Amino acid sequence: MTQLRIPGPTPCPPEVLEAMGWPMVNHRGPEFKKMLYEVTDKIKKVYQTENDLYLLTGSGTGGLEAAVVNMLSPGDKVLSVSIGVFGDRWANIARTFGADVVPLNFEWGKAADPDAIKDAIKANPDIKAVMVTHNETSTGVTNDLEPITKVVKAAGKLLLVDAISSLSSIDVPVDKWRCDVVISGSQKGWMVPPGLAMVSISREAWQAFDKARMPRFYWDFGKAKSYYEKGENPWTPAVSVVYALSVSLDMILKEGIQNVFKRHARIGQMTRDGVKALGLSMFADERYASNTVSSVVVPDGVDGKKLRQLVQSEHDIVLAGGQQRLDGKIFRIGHLGLVSEKDITDLLKALKDVLPKVGFSG
Ligand SMILES: *Cc1c(COP(=O)(O)O)cnc(C)c1O
Repeated sequence: MTQLRIPGPTPCPPEVLEAMGWPMVNHRGPEFKKMLYEVTDKIKKVYQTENDLYLLTGSGTGGLEAAVVNMLSPGDKVLSVSIGVFGDRWANIARTFGADVVPLNFEWGKAADPDAIKDAIKANPDIKAVMVTHNETSTGVTNDLEPITKVVKAAGKLLLVDAISSLSSIDVPVDKWRCDVVISGSQKGWMVPPGLAMVSISREAWQAFDKARMPRFYWDFGKAKSYYEKGENPWTPAVSVVYALSVSLDMILKEGIQNVFKRHARIGQMTRDGVKALGLSMFADERYASNTVSSVVVPDGVDGKKLRQLVQSEHDIVLAGGQQRLDGKIFRIGHLGLVSEKDITDLLKALKDVLPKVGFSG
């Protein structure tokens, strides 16, 4: 069977895929209400939060847009901490809706520097919020979020976190770190198909919501809240993905979230060690290398696309390429969600076989 080693959509356990085929129910009836409340409570355990949490039907990007339009007014100043493609995308969303975006960009492959964030807030005391990507999937870098949260909260600013490719795979204690709005997406570490974004909303975030005036309809947190109180979503939700989550969350909680985080750390390390043992170089700063996605430098003289094509055609393993200016420069290995040591052993064997065929001798 094909092994998807991309950073989302990720492979799903068979029980989860089976749940996707359960019959439809009335999404405004008692069965769905029960499941919605159970699933939401279980997601909160993974988020380690008692904040409100809603499922939004859409991809992760919808969750990023929701955070912007519910927290800000046109003209509001927002600090965008970006270390790659997804950080840049979020800044663009904020700009699109009229925010005054102050960019704080770091070199791709590197992590954000909390001191630089502190300085940027000091230089722009009127900013309302700070947007930060926890795990930058395009470069394979995980920001050291805890010191960043301390800097942002010490300055009394709203903290918006894109944890789309980390939450459920890497420890993000939302309440302990006082993150105000935290977004994730079903098709990453949650082991379910695409279709749902999750957002947690703190009390401070609700205060910001009361003042925020950006135009919004579909993503309105106020509507999400009032319908959730009745056990519903404002709009028809991705019912099948909720079914799938009801199964995958039981698997995650049975393994224990700390064990899930440890497994990802172990597999991340194993991937990096194995890749380097083949003579390849990692793209991301070692100290901040992601445990959900590894970025590998395409060696000089090697065609990265051909490398990935051969890994797929000869070993049935799918890898991801680089995005935007990293296209052709790196390839990426997704190792989040349903992933085992054996999957990585298989991948390393495949790379070892294919590398000489694309002209790399190590
Ligand atoms: C995947 C991803 C996104 C975008 O999510 P979509 O579900 O593709 O809209 C945003 N940010 C990060 C960090 C991601 O990994």
